[in-house]
Amino acid sequence: GGKAYSMMLRCRIPGGRITAEQLVAHLDICDELGNATLKITTRQTLQLHGILKDDLRESINRINKIGLSTLAACGDVNRNVMCCPAKRVGPIHAQMQQFTDDLVEALAPETTAYHELWLTDPETDEKTLVGGGEPEAKKPIEEPLYGPTYLPRKFKCGIALPEDNCIDIYTQDLGFIAVVRDEKIIGYNVIVGGGMGRTPSAKKTFPALAERMAFVTPEQAIDVAKAVLIVQRDNGNRSDRKVARLKYLIADWGVAKFRTEVEKIFGEKLADCTEDDVHGFDDHMGWQEQGDGKWSYGLNVENGRLMDNEKTQFKTAFRKICDVFGREMRFTGHQSIIFCDIEESEKDQLISIIKEHGIPTTEQTSTARRWSMTCVALPTCGLAITESERRLPSIIDKIEEPLAKLGLSNERFTIRMTGCPNGCARPYNADLALVGRAVGKYTLFVGGGWLGNRLAYIYKDQVKDEVVVEEMIGIFAAFKANREGSESLGDFCARVGEEKLAELAESAPRP
Ligand code: SF4
Repeated sequence: GGKAYSMMLRCRIPGGRITAEQLVAHLDICDELGNATLKITTRQTLQLHGILKDDLRESINRINKIGLSTLAACGDVNRNVMCCPAKRVGPIHAQMQQFTDDLVEALAPETTAYHELWLTDPETDEKTLVGGGEPEAKKPIEEPLYGPTYLPRKFKCGIALPEDNCIDIYTQDLGFIAVVRDEKIIGYNVIVGGGMGRTPSAKKTFPALAERMAFVTPEQAIDVAKAVLIVQRDNGNRSDRKVARLKYLIADWGVAKFRTEVEKIFGEKLADCTEDDVHGFDDHMGWQEQGDGKWSYGLNVENGRLMDNEKTQFKTAFRKICDVFGREMRFTGHQSIIFCDIEESEKDQLISIIKEHGIPTTEQTSTARRWSMTCVALPTCGLAITESERRLPSIIDKIEEPLAKLGLSNERFTIRMTGCPNGCARPYNADLALVGRAVGKYTLFVGGGWLGNRLAYIYKDQVKDEVVVEEMIGIFAAFKANREGSESLGDFCARVGEEKLAELAESAPRP
């Protein structure tokens, strides 16, 4: 064994769909080889932390044995494909799921290196994996889609319904907004060039929302996705990784030129987008009917962290739920979980298991907490400048009462926090966000929104940790005293702007 390098392993879980067996296997790996915690990510996957380098091979083998993979969960390729995780009978969700799986397949690298590196015994050269999640390695070493040099940078895709943008479609490099007519998806409005990451030292970097490009039929969708990827592969910036994401190419060219290049590769002109666009967001928490007589229960997992301590025992509870129910589960794009296929007669039993392990049910969770999320940050992420996952819960503890006093307890807005400007918890389109700036200091963003289709602006920079709560309460007080009708927090902040908001926050009566 070499030095005890500790690694993060991230799985590929298309649309966040996972079986009981797969979740239990992850819990086993995190207990036996990891740091005894699991994180549900903002992209509907699971991350294992603290895997020692010497245990990587075993961990990856075990993940592949349960029919999942870590292939293309990281790196300059297409990442985990996001899709609305709600379980529903009917053609719309079936079509979206099938499209998700087809996209994963179509955009997966065909490399044999993954198998050679991780799923082959180094001594005997024998395959250590039988019947795993990856198809038998395809022969050619040449990557038909990615070519010899892959993409300039990572690439993220998602599929959403207009009334339910729960996967934050405008933050994706490539997004498909379903166009539904007569209970059927007749095509997708394709949007391109979203992305959150920025580097404060590099002025040329910025977060961006995707732009609407063209309408495609279901038959065209996969080949158009490949064409988008190829245009980025061949034209994205390869000399400077800071500006290598698709969003910079779109900013440089404009979406019209980009579309022309995509059409050239695809071989046909595309139709313009229909008027269909995102207008709702269902986080799928609490009890929801599936349409087949069964129920789904969405449970809020604060910051996606599954761990056991004296107060709450997520891991034990989830093991028990897997054992007792053994049903399918889904991860949401907000780091939470949906337990599917629960019979009416079983509802109480599920809630009992959750409560027995000290986990607040969704009904017991404040709206502010339910709509919040954080990245990993300290102590696990090497890029973190500040706290995030360990800090936000205590910030929310301190704002819940003031929000209640202001009569804003049921107000839905997103609070997102990250430990650096990389933006892993998608802060730049949130109603309110805290982004790690310097040790103990954050940039406070406002003016995005839960719908995810507007960028936030910087309200204050270099905000000291000690005054973050006070600053937030000032914003809430200003909102309460000055909102128009039922406008949302993000809409209000966007309307009044930075200077006026600061004034209003000064003068508004505090709770
Ligand atoms: Fe790490 Fe920064 Fe991503 Fe947070 S936003 S997980 S600190 S890279």
